[in-house]
Amino acid sequence: TERTLSIIKPDATKRNLTGKIAAKFEEAGLRIVASKRILLTKEQAGKFYAVHAERPFFGELTEFMASGPVVVQVLEGEGAIAKNREVMGATNPADAAPGTIRAEFAESVGENSVHGSDAPDAAAEEIAFFFSGLELV
Ligand code: ATP
Ligand code: MG
Repeated sequence: TERTLSIIKPDATKRNLTGKIAAKFEEAGLRIVASKRILLTKEQAGKFYAVHAERPFFGELTEFMASGPVVVQVLEGEGAIAKNREVMGATNPADAAPGTIRAEFAESVGENSVHGSDAPDAAAEEIAFFFSGLELV
């Protein structure tokens, strides 16, 4: 079975939506196999989102990701990476399909409640960014 890295972003933790979002993962057949609530520095957020370093919204994105606690989770299931992206919905909540996390909860294209790995190599790298081997069972 596949694993992917999920982040419940600061806009969602601020509005106390952690449980409602986690329920969406479970309803989709994804199992939460690791979970913790942390506060990133802007530098750590920049390292995590380094692929976007040249994008115009990079400063805004890293500031936002450091603006409050996030809940980082490892989700496991068959086709977990694609399944999680499906449950999340489109990056811009205005384009997100009904019933998806971003359609129901996201506030804007920037403050869009969740992150999910987009490919197997990214998932492995992102899981290792936040979790040690001992935390992964
Ligand atoms: P994520 O990587 O967070 O799962 P995604 O893969 O749907 O989201 P990306 O294109 O990878 O979208 O963008 C990463 C994040 O950068 C988005 O989730 C969003 O928070 C932010 N972002 C993307 N586009 C914009 C934009 N035009 N303005 C502001 N923020 C943006
Ligand atoms: Mg992305």
